[in-house]
Amino acid sequence: MAARITKSNFGKLPDGTAVEQYTLTNASGAFCKIITYGGIITELQVPDKNGKLGDVVVGFDNLEQYLGSHPYFGAITGRFANRIAKGKFTLDGKAYSLAINNGPNALHGGLKGFDKVVWKATTSESKDSATLKLDYTSADGEEGFPGTLKVAVTYTFTDKNELRIDYDAVTDKATPINLTNHSYFNLAGSGDVFGHELMLAAENFTPTDDTLIPTGEIKSVKGTPFDFTKPKLIGKEIDQLFGQPHKGYDHNFVLDNQSKKLALAARVVEPKSGRVMEVLTEEPGVQLYTANFLSETHGKRKTYGQYSALCLETQHYPDSVNHSNFPSTILRPGEKYQTTTVYRFAVG
Ligand code: BGC
Repeated sequence: MAARITKSNFGKLPDGTAVEQYTLTNASGAFCKIITYGGIITELQVPDKNGKLGDVVVGFDNLEQYLGSHPYFGAITGRFANRIAKGKFTLDGKAYSLAINNGPNALHGGLKGFDKVVWKATTSESKDSATLKLDYTSADGEEGFPGTLKVAVTYTFTDKNELRIDYDAVTDKATPINLTNHSYFNLAGSGDVFGHELMLAAENFTPTDDTLIPTGEIKSVKGTPFDFTKPKLIGKEIDQLFGQPHKGYDHNFVLDNQSKKLALAARVVEPKSGRVMEVLTEEPGVQLYTANFLSETHGKRKTYGQYSALCLETQHYPDSVNHSNFPSTILRPGEKYQTTTVYRFAVG
């Protein structure tokens, strides 16, 4: 059986716009479901050590709940993932002001970010993979950002149980851009993630102030709970971070690989199921978020709660627009924004 992609209806927005769900199935029967609303990964079924498929992402089984309030489950976040301090930045001498939607700051692209728009789908199949390309044009001034931004996010699910995400964009005016996917993973399928073992290829991280904005410092993880350079259980030192403001891991790690070439950023092992997830990226950073602020939520035949999942959001550093020592997030006319992240599943 070759990889294939099928389409079904996933309901309608209040204005009548249809939302579709695509199922990308590979040769071994593992599959991934993605909807055109927010480009949300709604389901990702991969095998455990006994070959049994299980869903490793948090989500809902109906559009209504995705339209309600939830913390970006599975969604594409943009135009600027993560925080911008006080929603303000200056670009080429002009000051911009964005909506404040997270304490005093702007988070994940604004009030109606890329997680809340309907993307246009195109599908294709090859011998060993199924592909869903999602296109969206963000208007000049949308959510306060300059320039018409044409974005494509391409999901490819391969016979090797890899979910590859290619992000592409062009603009007609200089704009900040930082795209990621906000999936919440639990490789056991339920329970908390304290027993997940994590390795991060990051010797440094970006400490933050009380509103989770980086101070600008690039700090060594050595001797801190942020040291995941050798595999360590998430639960081992997380209690040191249970206090305000983070309540757990919610930090950007500075990846050792700054070459813009695809390299291993993270490896997660869940010993009971035997599931392993490797994250490869071209991005310079990754936000580790352990669902610290997730309140009890009834989702797909399950209830999710605090610490019941982890996000590994590959990205540029938060608030890069206000830190000249961070890698630039400015895209200019004539340039191409192109970045790839791969979530690879295996058993070990
Ligand atoms: C942020 C968290 C936030 C979560 C959901 C993460 O990217 O770092 O602070 O609670 O997204 O919005």
